[in-house]
Amino acid sequence: MKLKTLVLAMFASSAMTSVAIAEDDYKIVDKPLELSIQMNHKRYPVYKEDWPVEQEARKLTNIHLKDVTVGANMRTDSENTGKTEALNLMLASGKIPDIVGSSRIKDFVNQYGPEGAFLPLNDLIDEHAPNLKKFFEEKPHIKSALSAADGNMYYIPYLPDGKYGRAYFIRYDWLDKLGLKVPETVDEFEATLRAFKTQDPNGNGEADEVPYFARQWPELIRLVTLWDGRSSGSDTYHDFMVVDGEIQHPYAGEGYREGIKNLARWYEEGLIDAEIFTRGSSSREFLLSENLGGATHDWFASTSGYNRLSSEIDNFAFKAFAPPASVSGKRIEEHRRIPIKPDGWAIGGTNKHPVETIKYFDFWFTEKGRRLANFGAEGVQYDMIDGKPIFKDSVLNSDEPVNNQLYQVGSQLQARGYFQDYNYEAQWSNKFALEGIALYDQGDYLIDQFLGVAFNADEQKVYDKYWGTVRDYMLERQQTWILGNGDVEAEWDDYMAQLNQKGLQDVLDVMNQAYKRQYGE
Ligand code: CA
Repeated sequence: MKLKTLVLAMFASSAMTSVAIAEDDYKIVDKPLELSIQMNHKRYPVYKEDWPVEQEARKLTNIHLKDVTVGANMRTDSENTGKTEALNLMLASGKIPDIVGSSRIKDFVNQYGPEGAFLPLNDLIDEHAPNLKKFFEEKPHIKSALSAADGNMYYIPYLPDGKYGRAYFIRYDWLDKLGLKVPETVDEFEATLRAFKTQDPNGNGEADEVPYFARQWPELIRLVTLWDGRSSGSDTYHDFMVVDGEIQHPYAGEGYREGIKNLARWYEEGLIDAEIFTRGSSSREFLLSENLGGATHDWFASTSGYNRLSSEIDNFAFKAFAPPASVSGKRIEEHRRIPIKPDGWAIGGTNKHPVETIKYFDFWFTEKGRRLANFGAEGVQYDMIDGKPIFKDSVLNSDEPVNNQLYQVGSQLQARGYFQDYNYEAQWSNKFALEGIALYDQGDYLIDQFLGVAFNADEQKVYDKYWGTVRDYMLERQQTWILGNGDVEAEWDDYMAQLNQKGLQDVLDVMNQAYKRQYGE
């Protein structure tokens, strides 16, 4: 009893002392300073001054943000057009707020920053933002990836944390039922999918199983990695990739040709969902709950959640398995979270308080600011337990997803520049997801990814002129071959000639030029 009282007293006094010191540390100005902000994101179309997180940040920094967002009524538009529209409207209004936060802000600020619409941040960070400076010193590749063609950085991004995104998933209960082991190689994977197709693992007497399915059809193309091809160089589908310091496109490689040839064969044999190109986003929900789907490649957390179906389907177990070894024995997981998003915030070109503003940006990279950006308000969304922010049961057990609850108080805002803390997500990931992530971590299957380039105006013109046509042609041929309306082997030379005729090499040349300028030789 005495000990407990003593411990509590110690906690109380140390907490009070540290808070008293810390609160002063975060003050940027003695008297409250108002800065205007535009903030657009589909989940929170306007900046809300009464978000609890924002109130706390105000108290600590004395910086008061005033919402002046234009174009917020665009929120019902599609993801692409709505937000760019809002930024264009803001620009057209002739008034750029002190702070501009948005999804997909990267290309916008890299284009208009050098023209004066946004302030370059490099010197401001070096001189006034020790936490941002430290972050970029520790992660130079992120600093390079953020640079515009003129070498300056024009926005502070939302920086996701955690490495893992998608994984291979399979019905472990079907494997058990058919006396099969978890497939370790591409050949074993093929044999397993065939067994799912022909041996009635769902036990209804019909060959109705759909061995491999995907919510997003490019997750079928992903399987070319099993033949040493590639489907993308980043977390964006069909993206360019870096091979030995050179930019290449995955859809112009030998492994890709071999992969497409074999996937066309799998498709013809019925190992792949016949409706893979058309079934769409409800595929996973439908095929798992109808006890039809056998394997997929999808996100750890949400896919693991389907194990709740074990209450309806006897022994249902849909769990991650390690990437099967390719024909040459390589085991890779091509998908991972990108460490840097095109979302974040920037300083308007006419901002009269750039030093205070960069200090405010820096606040969100302090321990306290980062916690606020990730977990919400202490005592409301989380408690500090053993020095770590732990969500309250009321947050974890709510019907509302944890991330939705956080958006509503001003946390996890991707139109704010902040560094996510994976621990925020780990606390509400189910055990199957955490086991799967541990399996992938153990095998070290992830590969490096391409973080994008910033073009100068001439390069942008070349890219805009050719890339759309080249990409459309690639995707059209890809689908035709998979569906069996053509022969990838016989048509490959013509395909490569067509790609070059349509300008692929011109696009690669400007990509490589920009890449070398940005990341060094
Ligand atoms: Ca069946």
